[in-house]
Amino acid sequence: MQTKYLLSENQIPTHWYNVIPDLPGPMSPVLHPGTRKPVTPADLLPLFPMGLIEQEMSPERWVKIPDEVREIYRIWRPSPLFRAHRLEKALGTPARIYYKYEGVSPAGSHKPNTAVPQAYYNKIGGTKRIASETGAGQWGSSIALACKMFGLECTVYMVKVSFEQKPYRKSMMQLWGAEVIASPSPRTNAGRGILARDPESQGSLGIAISEAVEDAATRDDTRYALGSVLNHVCMHQTVIGLEAKEQMKLAGDVPDVVIGCHGGGSNFAGIAFPFVADKATGSKVRLVAAEPSSCPTLTKGVYAFDYGDTAQMAPISHMYTLGHDFMPPGIHAGGLRYHGASPLVSQLVNAGVIEARAVGQLAVFEAAVTFARTEAIIPAPESSHAIRVAIDEALQAKEEGKEKVILFNLSGHGHVDMAAYDAYFSGKLEDFEYPAEKVKESLAHLPQVDFAK
Ligand SMILES: *Cc1c(COP(=O)(O)O)cnc(C)c1O
Repeated sequence: MQTKYLLSENQIPTHWYNVIPDLPGPMSPVLHPGTRKPVTPADLLPLFPMGLIEQEMSPERWVKIPDEVREIYRIWRPSPLFRAHRLEKALGTPARIYYKYEGVSPAGSHKPNTAVPQAYYNKIGGTKRIASETGAGQWGSSIALACKMFGLECTVYMVKVSFEQKPYRKSMMQLWGAEVIASPSPRTNAGRGILARDPESQGSLGIAISEAVEDAATRDDTRYALGSVLNHVCMHQTVIGLEAKEQMKLAGDVPDVVIGCHGGGSNFAGIAFPFVADKATGSKVRLVAAEPSSCPTLTKGVYAFDYGDTAQMAPISHMYTLGHDFMPPGIHAGGLRYHGASPLVSQLVNAGVIEARAVGQLAVFEAAVTFARTEAIIPAPESSHAIRVAIDEALQAKEEGKEKVILFNLSGHGHVDMAAYDAYFSGKLEDFEYPAEKVKESLAHLPQVDFAK
């Protein structure tokens, strides 16, 4: 029984797929946080190099991957596609389950797929140093690695609770040469402001973004990098889905449902966007984003204009949001804690092209354990949201006695997340009620914009 479907290095995609020309309608503009008018490329230049700004708004369906980027992709790409024979057997399902495995990258997740081209376009655009933020460290380690590959300096603002409780990815960043700072920090106005109000602040992704954006905006040699959400990030990740499509051909199957976990939207976009074009030409494939019920942006948020960060320094985007000052419950262990979502994923959800599903933390860890005990790979807690939905789809197929082809993205391994598994096994994790009051409160602070769609 063939288990792995492998491509050779010369089958690494030559182009990224850009979903913008295949959207069901025009894109909403991104607004300047100060003027609340559409941002221009000149507004973005202090933060991003021109190569990435052009990709952010590109009307081209296919964008060439630079040779220098493909050379580095060779270290781990093409990534394998697996048929989950053992999981299928354990579930007793007639469904055929496939997963694309991005844990083979040096950082252990899909994130280097975009960190490498981001560092490349910064290098050729004259940037000397990158400032960025990280939650649990997956993005920070990926951008640190990519900066090292292109000889850039790197500073990462790491959410304080993770800096203190999850030291191993901090060590990975340092190993790849980055400077790591606990956020909120006294280095920036944004950090000092938070610390003045709450010296014990444990930080949040929104705060860390504010610090990194301020750092980049106030230094000529420095630009900012974001690991998810933005259009160019989603585009870089489409190497996942483009390879998976070729591998599904080797397997002789066509997926009925494609699933990815959803934090800011990038790995989901990576596996799902290459199938959006097929839907436009009649394919019935379902595209399902899996998010945590404790931070249910796509399923319980509103589709509105909101800031990308807590301190209201990042641009305002049209997206599903829980409000820029929403903070997910502290003991939530599964990652995927961003208040907003990719504007591209949001627009496709709003148009009914993409479905979203929220899953509870305990059910997610139960799925992760089932997966590790059958397929052997230890999944990242984030990826396990996709596993949960894939298993639910397979169990539904069993109930209905139907064949079904399921493809999901296993966005990373969980080797550096064993503390979360430890918390699960020792009974310290719980499911959260949907934090309706907190969401209501933070949604009251959405910016008023005069842009009428
Ligand atoms: C960062 C991360 C995610 C969530 O980010 P997206 O941008 O939504 O993909 C998911 N899985 C893993 C393993 C991650 O490191």
